[in-house]
Amino acid sequence: MRTPRPGAFSVLVRDIVRRPGEMRETELDVPLPERWGEGLVSLDAGEHVQVDVRLESVHEGILASGTAFSNYSGECGRCLRPVEAPVEVEFQELFAYPGDEANDFEVQDDHVDLETLVRDALVLSLPFQPVCRPDCPGLDPDTGERLADLPDEESRQSIDPRWAALARFSSEPAEGTDDVSGSQT
Ligand SMILES: [Zn+2]
Repeated sequence: MRTPRPGAFSVLVRDIVRRPGEMRETELDVPLPERWGEGLVSLDAGEHVQVDVRLESVHEGILASGTAFSNYSGECGRCLRPVEAPVEVEFQELFAYPGDEANDFEVQDDHVDLETLVRDALVLSLPFQPVCRPDCPGLDPDTGERLADLPDEESRQSIDPRWAALARFSSEPAEGTDDVSGSQT
């Protein structure tokens, strides 16, 4: 069986292996060697991922639970403006002791490697349709301009001309009433 080389997200668990009830907590701060995520937004290479993890020794293996923090960046899905935001996820997974059954996550000699676990949790939590702001109006379908950048005058001109005529009519002052009542002696 292939034994991957311990990576930046590997945590030594030698002191709690096969000692159910033992527990310890560890913090990691790892600059990413490569980009994580393939969507409109992703975690860039060099972005730091911070992990707070609690490792508990149980009969079947090591239970890892914790929180991962980072920042994602990319483009607004509507107007392509750059977007950037923090991301925080919780995770929990049992790293089983190697045995007859194949497990997705296993204790490897004296360590557990949290990389796949943390990576999947973070990448799956990234927004599929990121927006620069909740009401981003996107791009003009004809000109490709950002609608949010257009001055107010443009949107006023788009009012239906018939409605514009009505608005002018109703704002004219009413005439004639004063003269009628005041002319009789
Ligand atoms: Zn936008």
